[in-house]
Amino acid sequence: MTIYNFSAGPAVLPKEVLLQAQAEMLDWHGSGMSVMEMSHRGKEFISIANQAEADLRELMAIPANYKVLFLQGGAHMQFSMIPLNLLRGKLSADYVNTGEWSKKAISEAKKFSYVNVVADNSDKKCSYVPDFKTWKLDKNAAYLHFTPNETIGGVEFNWVPNTGDVPLVADMSSNILSRPVDVWKYGLIYAGAQKNIGPAGLTLVIVRDDLIGHADPRLPTMMDFKTHADNDSMYNTPPTFGIYMAGLVFQWLKRNGGIGVMEQRNIAKADILYGAIDSSDGFYHCPVNVADRSRMNVPFTLRSTELETAFLKQADARGLLQLKGHRSVGGMRASLYNAMPIEGVRALVDFMAEFAQANA
Ligand SMILES: *Cc1c(COP(=O)(O)O)cnc(C)c1O
Repeated sequence: MTIYNFSAGPAVLPKEVLLQAQAEMLDWHGSGMSVMEMSHRGKEFISIANQAEADLRELMAIPANYKVLFLQGGAHMQFSMIPLNLLRGKLSADYVNTGEWSKKAISEAKKFSYVNVVADNSDKKCSYVPDFKTWKLDKNAAYLHFTPNETIGGVEFNWVPNTGDVPLVADMSSNILSRPVDVWKYGLIYAGAQKNIGPAGLTLVIVRDDLIGHADPRLPTMMDFKTHADNDSMYNTPPTFGIYMAGLVFQWLKRNGGIGVMEQRNIAKADILYGAIDSSDGFYHCPVNVADRSRMNVPFTLRSTELETAFLKQADARGLLQLKGHRSVGGMRASLYNAMPIEGVRALVDFMAEFAQANA
């Protein structure tokens, strides 16, 4: 039976990448060692890390005045590192609330700063992206933080806020590398690796260099972006195996045509699944405003929790795994990251049609 893993994260990785890692597991390129066993300061690992960074820079067309940092601590650590580094003596930061991850970023920032919530979609159960015309921006804000893709609610921006001189900060944990991004429009982009990049344990930060070096001197060394920027992410031992795996994913993306091609594939996959939901005569329901539906994370519900339980059980038996929605919202959620093949989405919608027919 072919298995398709729809987990929101840690998530599916390209099979080719896993096979390559398997082949290189005991002896990386004739070094006689596994990547896990290498010194992070040795020439072998330095070449792996440099290649990974160069490939990411090429894929995302990252301008030279941006640093790429390979950190740890997940997106959660960035929820505090961002205010601690980017407030730069200012009194307030702007945040957009579009769902669970925005809320977590906001509550952490409130420990360090006044937070101005410029827009909030909780009036409609976090099911839409608030119209930019309604945002109450503060031109003196230290930065504006938003979550381009809400992994739990399935709400995704298909536009980029224009905040003028206020640096734009984005939590791209669940949609980085899924579509082209104009990096120059952002002050900082961050992402936990375990959705669309590689294994858990690695956190990617792309930060404009003028935003580095303004932290309070009492800030712990490890939390200062400058520490990591000045030491090419090797101040301490970085997550070496995660960087290696991310590098293999970047090469896979390049071999497959890059991010523009990925975007076309992701649109096609999302269209198939939303099409199945919308043509089910209400048997399946997606609560998200149509224009703001995520290509990466597709939440949907059935008319009763009993039916949902049956759906999940039967899907599991068919090799369609991890379709349960987040514990905070229930229902179902199918995550369609880059590594999910279109065949997986076809298998899912075939099953959905059968299930709907059997339970109409
Ligand atoms: C998964 C996720 C997080 C949390 O990531 P951790 O690596 O577990 O800290 C934060 N933001 C978004 C948008 C996510 O999808």
